[in-house]
Amino acid sequence: MKELTIGLDIGGTNTKYGIVDRDGNVVYQGSISTTQYEEFKDYFDGLATALRDAMATIPFENKMMGVGVGAANGNYYKGTIERATNLKWKGIIPLADMFKEEFNIPAIVTNDANAAAVGEMIYGSAKGMQDFVVITLGTGLGSGFVSNGQLLNGKHGIAGEVGHTTVNYAGRYCNCGKRGCLETYVSATGIRRTVYKLLADHLEPSELRGISFDNLTTKMITECAVRGDIVALAAFEYTGRILGMKLAETVVHTDPDAIFLFGGLSLAGDLIFKPTIKHMEANLMPLFRGKIKVLPSGLQNQAAPILGSSSLVWNYLYNKQFKETLI
Ligand SMILES: [Zn+2]
Repeated sequence: MKELTIGLDIGGTNTKYGIVDRDGNVVYQGSISTTQYEEFKDYFDGLATALRDAMATIPFENKMMGVGVGAANGNYYKGTIERATNLKWKGIIPLADMFKEEFNIPAIVTNDANAAAVGEMIYGSAKGMQDFVVITLGTGLGSGFVSNGQLLNGKHGIAGEVGHTTVNYAGRYCNCGKRGCLETYVSATGIRRTVYKLLADHLEPSELRGISFDNLTTKMITECAVRGDIVALAAFEYTGRILGMKLAETVVHTDPDAIFLFGGLSLAGDLIFKPTIKHMEANLMPLFRGKIKVLPSGLQNQAAPILGSSSLVWNYLYNKQFKETLI
């Protein structure tokens, strides 16, 4: 009898799901549209059907241990999704209760960056580490903190929102309602905004000139930088400088062993890592210099969000301290 978990990644566009064994093998993977359902109840029914179909395909004897959910604004303590800006269902959605009722298994809900952090600890490059930070660089910037081997949740279940700490109080407008948040500079959207600013401020020839904002991608900027495009290179230097300076502050709060960068922008390798590390080191309190590793995530593949979410279940089942506070 093999023990399995379900990992669920609720994104603004699609919901990815997978069935995962204890060793991190994804034995089934699928996705449904998040946007096509006007009512949450209809979405949940569609998802439940997809999950039942998926479970029916597993060819060996198994026991379903639980479901882990990564979603923007997921609340770890309440098992809810609360007022997510990227989903059309407003208010508070009692997701964990709904899963419990439908499948009679525990459901652990958290935000996608926290799921990535637990995934890094269970399946990725943070195995054996007690103190680390995961920064997810997607459309926005998420972060998950592990301290003393425990995911940091905070009083309200929403700890670790580094993406919405301020870089410039009179800076770029952010989706959260503030100005100058880190994610408006350091994210896929942030670097595109930077490219546009650089193109406006300078007259150097660049392959990126003439590409519309909506069509501009991180991949395009990366490829141009590799070819030596001066604007693309400057955009990475600027993005890494801001990230490095902010990480120097983040380090002071929890004294991590390592910081892992995950997702789109981090795939640019040295283009983003070099300026990030340089400016982090330059701005670190001297006590910390040379001690903090900045590393690529060990989960850089398609299944990473599913692995991250599914790992929440193992973390829950095998961690007595969490058992008291969840569900
Ligand atoms: Zn913000």
